[in-house]
Amino acid sequence: MTGTLSVIGLGPGDQRYLTEDASDALHAAEAIYGYRPYLDRIPIRSHQIHYPSENREEGLRAAAAIRHAVRGHNVAVVSGGDPGVFAMAAAVCEAIDTGPEEWRTLDVEFVPGITAMLAVAARIGAPLGHDFCALSLSDNLKPWELIEQRLDAAANAGFVIALYNPVSRARPWQFGRAIERLRRHLPTTTPLVFGRAVGRTDEQIKMVTLDAAETASADMATLVIVGSRETRVVVRPGREPLVYTPRAVAEVSA
Ligand code: SAH
Repeated sequence: MTGTLSVIGLGPGDQRYLTEDASDALHAAEAIYGYRPYLDRIPIRSHQIHYPSENREEGLRAAAAIRHAVRGHNVAVVSGGDPGVFAMAAAVCEAIDTGPEEWRTLDVEFVPGITAMLAVAARIGAPLGHDFCALSLSDNLKPWELIEQRLDAAANAGFVIALYNPVSRARPWQFGRAIERLRRHLPTTTPLVFGRAVGRTDEQIKMVTLDAAETASADMATLVIVGSRETRVVVRPGREPLVYTPRAVAEVSA
């Protein structure tokens, strides 16, 4: 079998965030599969065919791309940010895990990209400077109750929390419930960073405290970083504040 499947991260938006490795892999592909808005970011080359699909079709998309590659072609699957973070890399692995035996012999490579939480953090300082975790607020693939349990555990464990997928049209109330939940555990002054469409022309970065956080500030293109008890805000005259989490913790809090 001579086909290849590359699972490629496009970074958060702007072409400058695309790695050289990702750019080379995109150039080499004969066929590119992906969620339509991600494919729209990539210029189509004369030798290439794009196969756009809709959101929530990851499993079908992965299987279609694998079948195409198995026929002996150089095929790419793209994700925004990093393909391993709430994206196509796991869908491809799962398809290989559960699919026909011959898929296991396919040459597969994963090309990393800058994930949204790193791009947002870099805009405001170093909120992820100490221990942190990432949670998807989407309850499409897991029960809401589990998300609440993980929010409780993460906040109590002192992790800074990067919240992916805070809101979508089909999930209007979840982010509000998450904020309520976090207010049970964290001080009202805890900083929250809302990073919207980072790396794109309509980028917005906003810092608020937990008591003032409004659910309307987040949409599908927003990543929210919730500080820990240690996270600090550095107010600067004439400049945006810096948000950072110090690298050292002196003692275990009660
Ligand atoms: N694989 C992607 C994440 C896919 S989940 C990555 O590594 O970044 C989709 C979620 O990612 C969105 O709901 C949003 O929370 C976040 N996201 C993706 N791109 C973003 C961007 N440019 N700015 C802010 N958040 C973004």
